[in-house]
Amino acid sequence: MSVDRYEMVVGLEVHVQLKTRTKAFCACSTMYGAPPNVNTCPVCLALPGTLPVLNAEAVRLAVRAAHALGCTVKPISVFARKNYFYPDLPKGYQISQYDRPLAVNGSLRIGENADGTPITVGITRLHLEEDAGKSIHDRYAAVTAIDLNRSGVPLTEIVSEPDMRSAQEAGAYLRALKQILEFTDVSDVNMEEGSLRVDANVSARLRGETRLGTKTEVKNMNSFSGVERALQAEFERQVGVLDGGGRVEQQTMLWDGARGIVRPARSKEASHDYRYFPEPDLPPLVLSKEWIEEQRQSLPELPAARRARFVREYALSPREVDVLTSSVILADYYEQTARAHGDPKTAANWVTGEVLAAVNAAGTSLREFPVRPSDLAGLLSLVRDGKVSHTAAKRIFGEMRRSGEPPAQIAEREGLLQEGSDDAITVWVEEVLAEHPDESRRFLAGERKLLGVLVGAVMKKSKGRADPRRVNQLLSSRASG
Ligand SMILES: [Zn+2]
Repeated sequence: MSVDRYEMVVGLEVHVQLKTRTKAFCACSTMYGAPPNVNTCPVCLALPGTLPVLNAEAVRLAVRAAHALGCTVKPISVFARKNYFYPDLPKGYQISQYDRPLAVNGSLRIGENADGTPITVGITRLHLEEDAGKSIHDRYAAVTAIDLNRSGVPLTEIVSEPDMRSAQEAGAYLRALKQILEFTDVSDVNMEEGSLRVDANVSARLRGETRLGTKTEVKNMNSFSGVERALQAEFERQVGVLDGGGRVEQQTMLWDGARGIVRPARSKEASHDYRYFPEPDLPPLVLSKEWIEEQRQSLPELPAARRARFVREYALSPREVDVLTSSVILADYYEQTARAHGDPKTAANWVTGEVLAAVNAAGTSLREFPVRPSDLAGLLSLVRDGKVSHTAAKRIFGEMRRSGEPPAQIAEREGLLQEGSDDAITVWVEEVLAEHPDESRRFLAGERKLLGVLVGAVMKKSKGRADPRRVNQLLSSRASG
C-alpha cells in the first residue's frame, strides 16, 4: 500500500458546551455529575404545552467564541428543528441552527511552517444548539437507561473547512481551539465530562489532486489523541480501498479505541435525513450591531497575542512561553509572580519547574494550589536578597505547598534565614576550628584543599543559616592571616 502517494483531507465539527449555569431553554442546572434525571423540568423533558425561552448567557458566550475565532457575527440568525428519533431525545428533535447560523467565516492559526508562514484553518460556521440526553448501556444488565440531565444543555458547534492535511494538524487545531475557548472563558472544554466532542470528515486523494475525494464521517472519539489515531486509521483504510481500485463509500465510521480500528456504523447510527425546518416556538435571534461590537471589545488577550507579549516583555524562550501560555490560569499565575518579584526569568524557572512539578505531583489544578503568586514572589525575593539559600528555598517551598503559609514566616520558624552577620558566623567558624584540631592545623598551615570540608562543617553547624560565600571568605582570611 502506497500511503505516501495520498494526501489526507480533514474537516472537523466540534461541539462545545457553553459554560452557563442553566440550560439553553429552561432554568435547569447544567451541573456535571448530578444523579440521573435530577436536572430536568417540563421544558427539557418535552412535556406537552411547554415553550423554550432562550438563555441570554449562552448567546453571549457563543458570540465571544465567534469573535475569538475571527468570525462574522450575524445580526439575525434563526433556530431550526433537527428531527430524528432517539430514546434520549424526548422532543424528537434538537433545537439547532441550520441555514442561518449565528456566525460564519472565521479562521484559526494552528502553527507555522518551517519558513515561518502561518498554518491556518478556516472556520465555516459557528452556531447555537442544545444537547440531547444520554443513553447508558453499561450500567444495568440487559437494559438501556436514559439520563436527561444533559437534555437542553447549551452547545456551540464549530465547523471547520476541510483545511487539515494530517492527523497531527487535526490535533493541533483541536489544541488551539481548546486554548481559545479556555482563554475566553466560553467553555470548560473537558472531553471526559463531555463538554467537548469531535466528529471528523475525512477523505483521501492522490497528492497533487485538487478535487476532494469522497468523505466519510468518523465519530466516537473521546480524546484528542484518539482523534489523531482514528483519522490515521480511517485514512489508511480509504487508501487501501482506492489503491485496490475501489471506491470509498460515503458513510459513518465509528472509532474503536480499544482495538485501534474504525468500523462502519450500523444503519441506525448512520446519518439521518434531519428534515430541518425553522423552529416555530422561537423568534429569530436578533442582535444589535452595537452589542455585537461590545462583545468583541470585551474579549481578553487571546493566546497568540499573549505569547507574543511574553516573548517581548519578559525575554523568555519560545519553549518557556509555550508552557506558560498553555492556559490562562498558568499565564496569570506566572505574570503575577513575575510582576511581584521583578525578575521574569527567575519567576519563569520556578513556575515551569517547581510549581508545575508540584501541581502535577498533587494531581490537582493550579486553581487549588495553595501557594499564591505573591508568596512565591516573596520566596524568590528572599533568595535574591541573600536571606535564604537556594536549598533552604526549596524546603520552604515544600512547606508552603502543604500549609499555604507565607515564606518569611516559615523561614523564621524553621530557622532557615541566612545569618549574614559576621559575629554569628565567626562564632561558628571558631567552634568548627576548635572541634577539628587536626584539619584546622593543616588548613591554617596552608593546606587549601581542606577549605571545602571546613565550610561544610560550618554550614552544618549553622543548620544552613550561614551565608556560604561569607563563611568561605572568613575561613580563607584565617588561613592566609
Ligand atoms: Zn429543564
